[in-house]
This record gives sequence, structure tokens and C-alpha cells, in this order.
Amino acid sequence: MTLNDDEKTLQQAGIRVTAVRLLIWREVRQRFTDAFSLADLEQALPTVDRSTLFRTLTLLVEAHLLHDIDDGSGSQKYCVCPMADTRHCGGHVHVTCTNCHRTFCLTDVPIPEVPLPAGFRPLEAEYVVKGLCPLCDRHPLSR
Ligand SMILES: [Zn+2]
Ligand SMILES: [Zn+2]
Ligand SMILES: [Zn+2]
Repeated sequence: MTLNDDEKTLQQAGIRVTAVRLLIWREVRQRFTDAFSLADLEQALPTVDRSTLFRTLTLLVEAHLLHDIDDGSGSQKYCVCPMADTRHCGGHVHVTCTNCHRTFCLTDVPIPEVPLPAGFRPLEAEYVVKGLCPLCDRHPLSR
């Protein structure tokens, strides 16, 4: 992907491209293969102020380029939609490791459909499994 592709992705998602938005989107897409928090992004981009980061993340979520996840950690997590440059994928399952507290994206595992009673209309779903990641499962005390 070139810089132009990133610009095109933002445009196609209906986002007005600015230098800082492009910077944030590139960083997010290149750096994070699993879920990340605002604090993780702050660490990665110390020159951009927190409110700009937060507003841009919200914008990217609304444009379906990012997913937002509540993994029970108390801080909102985000991940890049695996189909960001084509269309929103409908979500994937996440696993939160209760030992190292990382949240992993299972981008190949779609969220199972839940049969809702008549009258309820699902709009979106979130599916977070709590457990141990492979590393912590082998070495339970490591962090
Ligand atoms: Zn998606
Ligand atoms: Zn772990
Ligand atoms: Zn994810």
C-alpha cells in the first residue's frame, strides 16, 4: 500500500483527508495487528495531542475503517477492520487474555449469529472471549 492508497481509503470512506488524519490512519494500519487503546496510540504518536487522536479514532470508527471493542478492561479498544478498503466486514471475534491483558483479533472468525426474539432488530454485535493467549497458556506467570 502506498500513501496514495491510504488517502484513497479515507476518501472512499467519506472522510475529508487532512495531514494528521492520514498520519493517524497510516500509523494505526501499519503498527497494530491486534486491538489497541488510545494510550497505545498516544505512545506511538507522541507528537499528536490526545483529543485529536480520540476524535480521529471516533471518526474512523464511524466510517467503519476501525472497529471499537469493549474487552472489559475499562478502556475502549480499537482494531483495523480487516476489509477496511472495500467495505465493513460485520465484525470478528476477539480474545482477551486475562494474564497479559492483550486483546487479539480473530479476523478469520466471524461473530456467530444470535437468534433474537421477534421484534428485536440487531444492528451490530461484539463478541469477546476471555481466556489465555498461547504464550501465557504455556508460561502462566509471564507478562
Ligand atoms: Zn469491519
Ligand atoms: Zn496472554
Ligand atoms: Zn479486531
